Amino acid sequence: MSSYDVDLRSDTVTQPTDAMWEAMRNAPLGDDVLGDEPSVIALENRIADMLGKEAALFTPSGTMANQLAIRSVCEGGDEIIAHHDNHIIHYETGGPAALSGCMVQGVDGPSGLFDADRVAAAIRHQDVHHPRTRMVAIENSHNRGGGCVWSIERFESVADVAQEHGIHVHVDGARLFNACVAAGYSPAEFARRADTVNVCFSKGLGAPVGSAMIGPADLVERARRFRKMFGGGMRQSGILAAAAMHALDHHVDRLAVDHELAAGLAAGIDRIDGLRVEEPEGGIRTNIVFFHVDPSLGTARAFAERMTDAGVAAYDFDPTRIRMVTHLDVDGAAIDRAIETVRGIASGLSA
Ligand SMILES: *Cc1c(COP(=O)(O)O)cnc(C)c1O
Repeated sequence: MSSYDVDLRSDTVTQPTDAMWEAMRNAPLGDDVLGDEPSVIALENRIADMLGKEAALFTPSGTMANQLAIRSVCEGGDEIIAHHDNHIIHYETGGPAALSGCMVQGVDGPSGLFDADRVAAAIRHQDVHHPRTRMVAIENSHNRGGGCVWSIERFESVADVAQEHGIHVHVDGARLFNACVAAGYSPAEFARRADTVNVCFSKGLGAPVGSAMIGPADLVERARRFRKMFGGGMRQSGILAAAAMHALDHHVDRLAVDHELAAGLAAGIDRIDGLRVEEPEGGIRTNIVFFHVDPSLGTARAFAERMTDAGVAAYDFDPTRIRMVTHLDVDGAAIDRAIETVRGIASGLSA
C-alpha cells in the first residue's frame, strides 16, 4: 500500500495486482545469465514482435535500457541529439558521459517534441573539431513535456533526416503504450523507423520492475554483454518477466482509463483560482498533468508539500510547476479527493 491516500507522484508506485502475483508465482524459471530463463525469453520475443523488431533484452530499469542502447551504438566523443527536456539529460545521472563518454546536444521544440529542421541544424558536419553525431533520441510520450505524444509523421520526418546522415534513431518509449493508446497507433506502426526502442513495464503497465531494450539482433547481443558489465545480469528474473507479460496481456487497453482520469483531473484543477493546467501540445492528453501555481500562492515546492501533507502526493518539477500522474492504483474517487484537496489548499492560501 502507498503511504499516501492518493499517490500521484508517478505511475511507478503501483502495487502488483493479485492476478499479477499469481502469474509471477506460476512462472517457469531458469537462469537468464546462463541463457535458459523461459519466462524472460518469452517476454523478450513477445515485446520484440510487438515492436516489429528482431530482438529484445529485459533490463532492470528504463535507465539501463537507454544507457545500453547508447553504449552499444556510440563511442567516446560521440554526440547524441535529444530535446533539452529529455530524460537522458535530466534523470540518468549523467549516464551518457559516465558510461559511454558521450555528450548530448539539447534541441528545442514545443513540449518535448521537435521537428526535422532542428535535427538537420544540430547534426555536425565532418570536421576534425567536431564531435561525431551518432544518435538522435526522442521520448514518446514526453515526460517533462507533459506526457505529450509524437505523431508518426513528425517522428518519421525526424528519422528521415537522421537516417540520411547515417545517424541511429532511438526511441525512449518508457510510456510508449500510453502514447499508442491515446494516439491510436500500434507500437510497431510508431516504431517502424526506430533503430532501437526502450519500453518500461514498471510505469503505466503496472509491473513492479523491468524494461526492455529492443532492436536489431546484433545490437541486442552487444547490449547483452554491456548489461552484464553494468551489473544488470539477473538470474530467476522470470518472476519479473512474468509480471511484465501479465501487464502486456491485461494492462495495455486499460491505459485509456488513466487518460480519462487525467483529463478529469486536469479539468478540475484548471477551474481552481490561481492554478493553470498546461495543455498538451497536439491536444492529446495521456496520464500526466502539469499545473502552474500562481506566485501569489507561493512556490510549487511549498504547494506540493502541502498537498503531500494532506495525503495527496505530487512532485514539483520547476519553481512554478507541479506534476501529477494517474495510474492503475487511482480511481475516480481518488481523483475527486485530489481535486478537493488542491482546491482547499489554493483557497486557504489566497484567503
Ligand atoms: C521512467 C523513465 C525512464 C526510465 O526510468 P527507470 O526509473 O530507470 O526505469 C526512461 N525514460 C523516461 C521518459 C521515463 O519516464
